[in-house]
Amino acid sequence: MSRGRRTAVVGGGMAGCAAAKELIKNGREVVIFEAGAGLGGRARSWHRPEIEPDVGVNLWFTSFYKIMFERIKEYGLEDQLVEMSNNVIVVDKGRPAELLSDSFRSLLTFEHVSLRDRLGFLYSTIKETFKRKQLDIFDPLKLAPFDDGTTAAQYARKSMSQRGFDNLLRPEIESFWLWRCEDISAAHVRAMQAQVAGAKFYVFRNGMEIIAENNAKGADIRLETEVTDLQIDSTGKVQITARSADGTHTTETFDDVVVATQAPTAAKLAASLPAGIVGQDTRDFLETQEYEPALSVSYLVDFSSMPSEAHIVAAGAEDPSVKTIITFPRQVRDENGRPVDKHLAFVYPGRAATRRLLELSTEEQFAETSRLVTDLWPDFPKDAEPFEIAVRPWAMPVPAPGRYRKSARVIRLQRPPVVFAGDYFTSPISEAAMLSGIRAAKVLTNAS
Ligand SMILES: Cc1cc2nc3c(=O)[nH]c(=O)nc-3n(C[C@H](O)[C@H](O)[C@H](O)COP(=O)(O)OP(=O)(O)OC[C@H]3O[C@@H](n4cnc5c(N)ncnc54)[C@H](O)[C@@H]3O)c2cc1C
Repeated sequence: MSRGRRTAVVGGGMAGCAAAKELIKNGREVVIFEAGAGLGGRARSWHRPEIEPDVGVNLWFTSFYKIMFERIKEYGLEDQLVEMSNNVIVVDKGRPAELLSDSFRSLLTFEHVSLRDRLGFLYSTIKETFKRKQLDIFDPLKLAPFDDGTTAAQYARKSMSQRGFDNLLRPEIESFWLWRCEDISAAHVRAMQAQVAGAKFYVFRNGMEIIAENNAKGADIRLETEVTDLQIDSTGKVQITARSADGTHTTETFDDVVVATQAPTAAKLAASLPAGIVGQDTRDFLETQEYEPALSVSYLVDFSSMPSEAHIVAAGAEDPSVKTIITFPRQVRDENGRPVDKHLAFVYPGRAATRRLLELSTEEQFAETSRLVTDLWPDFPKDAEPFEIAVRPWAMPVPAPGRYRKSARVIRLQRPPVVFAGDYFTSPISEAAMLSGIRAAKVLTNAS
């Protein structure tokens, strides 16, 4: 135990709050600096009282998220769990076909690709499932040996035709993560393939931030407080300068710090530190992480007008105007106060369309998305009610080929008093972010 030591956590997302919990458990006094208005970072959704449950995007997690289920048990959150269907509807040139990601039967009857491709995919899934322990999607230290420079697209083509890949594996990966299989490591896809068979899918009824909030209990939480500078003083302590909501800057001294922001911010904060504190390999790693942006445009639609709990995704290698539509059931009250079933439909434009739409006003984003959405789902209701837009310029860190190996090296280089955490070490998955936070915190607690 290291009582009396003060640690700052910069960033109150899933990684930062998991780090805070680990630090508090080890007797640290913890201050969380969070630029946003609440904890949870990218796992935090918007909330609107007109809908029940009142939450926007419900982040998914599966039965193989180990830390998540430990926390659910610890905090008694079992009644918050909602099991979801993992129904993926792949649309190829206007033709939809259903594909349940965890069902061999659904795979074998999936009509968009040849039987040979279905069997090829089944065979490679079974093969990877046997390596499940090593092909750990959350842990770059385990995944690094599989990151041999091959892209996901190259890997997929070993077991199936181009058409099989474009209609089967590509949509399963790209609809959830938005980047292109040509740009990411085969290790990411192999790990997903190894883990997903037999998995159950869940959401939290009122949003995933409940885990971050529980993890942060016991910390001094400073919301709407953006860290603008890190320095090391002459005694080796960390000086943190932060700007609060009213614009005032204050500087405080800590024994050490977990920087749990997205990589570009971490790189900026690391830039003012001496090379003896953050080495060149770590700086290079932070500076070179790339992200796919995301824009989720949501609409309220009549319940019967869309399939329920569905991921509707575009097949094919091209970047479509709309990549994915996800539907969640919600209730609204009619004029007599009676609950009415609806769907909240989240529309994710394609890569080029997202970049273009990010430049527009909210009204223009709704108008343009309403125009594009029928490219993917011609029956998207014309009377859909524009509801809410979430903009994430740094949404999905890209696990480029070789990235897991680099992150494993950087993780091993982490030293007090400044350590880093975040999903950019692994993949955009909340469980991976938590593991990264716990690991970074342990570097500090083990050293004292
Ligand atoms: C659209 C979308 C859908 C997703 N769906 C899923 C899903 O279904 N299931 C799943 O498991 N994962 C999903 N993810 C991934 C998951 O949200 C992330 O992997 C995870 O939340 C990342 O956590 P993090 O703590 O590493 O980073 P972040 O959540 O980005 O946290 C970083 C925090 O640092 C704060 N910050 C930044 N700069 C400063 C500063 N200077 N000072 C103080 N604070 C600062 C930010 O405000 C933020 O709160 C999704 C992500 C997106 C974008």
